[in-house]
Amino acid sequence: MNKYTAAEDRYEKMIYRRCGKSGIKLPLLSLGLWHNFGNTTSFENSRQLLRTAFDNGITHFDLANNYGPPYGSAETNFGKIFKEDFQAYRDELLISTKAGWDMWPGPYGNFGSRKYLIASLDQSLKRMGLDYVDIFYHHRPDPSTPLEETMGALDQIVRQGKALYVGVSQYSAGQTAKAAEILRNLGTPFIIHQPRYNMFDRWVEDGLLDTLEKEGLGSIVFSPLEQGILTSKYLDGIPADSRAAIEGGYLDKNKITPRLLEQVEQLNEIAQNCDQSLAQMAIAWLLKDDRVTSVLIGASKTSQLKDNIAVLQNLKFTKEELIRIEDVLIEVV
Ligand code: NDP
Repeated sequence: MNKYTAAEDRYEKMIYRRCGKSGIKLPLLSLGLWHNFGNTTSFENSRQLLRTAFDNGITHFDLANNYGPPYGSAETNFGKIFKEDFQAYRDELLISTKAGWDMWPGPYGNFGSRKYLIASLDQSLKRMGLDYVDIFYHHRPDPSTPLEETMGALDQIVRQGKALYVGVSQYSAGQTAKAAEILRNLGTPFIIHQPRYNMFDRWVEDGLLDTLEKEGLGSIVFSPLEQGILTSKYLDGIPADSRAAIEGGYLDKNKITPRLLEQVEQLNEIAQNCDQSLAQMAIAWLLKDDRVTSVLIGASKTSQLKDNIAVLQNLKFTKEELIRIEDVLIEVV
């Protein structure tokens, strides 16, 4: 392993967008560590992904307590790489983590109690070797814990100095507005929502983005490539090294139907006419709405990261291109 020095021109390559009404700017592309950072993948590859991202101005790395596999291992591996490569750059980085899904056995390792969130963040900080995270998220709504308790835990975490800002993920528009009201009254720096959003999953257009704008919140959208489906990679079958090839993984290969591939093929043709890869077009399509602060990509190879980052050369669409895309998407069931 050679010693890492970040590329000097890293800030010339990226565009940054303000996160809602906060003082923080996020890179248009951020890197998520859900896949490709656990113990079942190459540690050196994980390191190269982080280095390539930062060298290109990606200042934001997104984690969660349960990223792996096994749970926790993405944070542990990130911590090792951070210590060796990124310690000197801590103040140039925004590092986030989350809690909300099942993490440890028993009634206190899941959902949204104060006990779970505080204990989980303490564990995350230990695994990553950090004193604080920049953003701490509640990972999903909890139907049985009072929202006041969950938001109170986020507030406490900030007051303890363990997170600078807080966010929520997977909350509906209504839940987000309620959370914003509670946190506003507490004086907690709630700045961001992390929803799922891509060409094939557009639920945020139905009220959430309006709510975020109204509340002065930013957004970082996950699975922008529908876990890889919105690239050309599945057009000729399922590659052995792809996410869909992992048995029991999160991307069920049965989801990739001939009908879906037909639509992907049509989108791919539009992308080619725009001189873009489909991945680039799918990312640019999300960024055309400036209520999307950042697009949270995953990558298993540095070549994918580079392909995706090259979207910055071409973020514009003509009206006709948008109509052609819409015509394809309208048929998505
Ligand atoms: P994407 O939709 O970007 O999918 C990433 C995958 O697509 C890669 O791992 C790779 O898969 C493939 N890919 C990426 N770029 C290319 C390319 N240029 N050409 C071909 N294939 C490509 O995002 P994810 O689903 O990975 O989610 C991103 C992040 O969002 C996560 O890491 C996590 O931080 C966050 N997230 C948050 C959730 C939440 O509940 N808040 C839930 C899920 C994710 P392959 O392995 O096949 O090469």
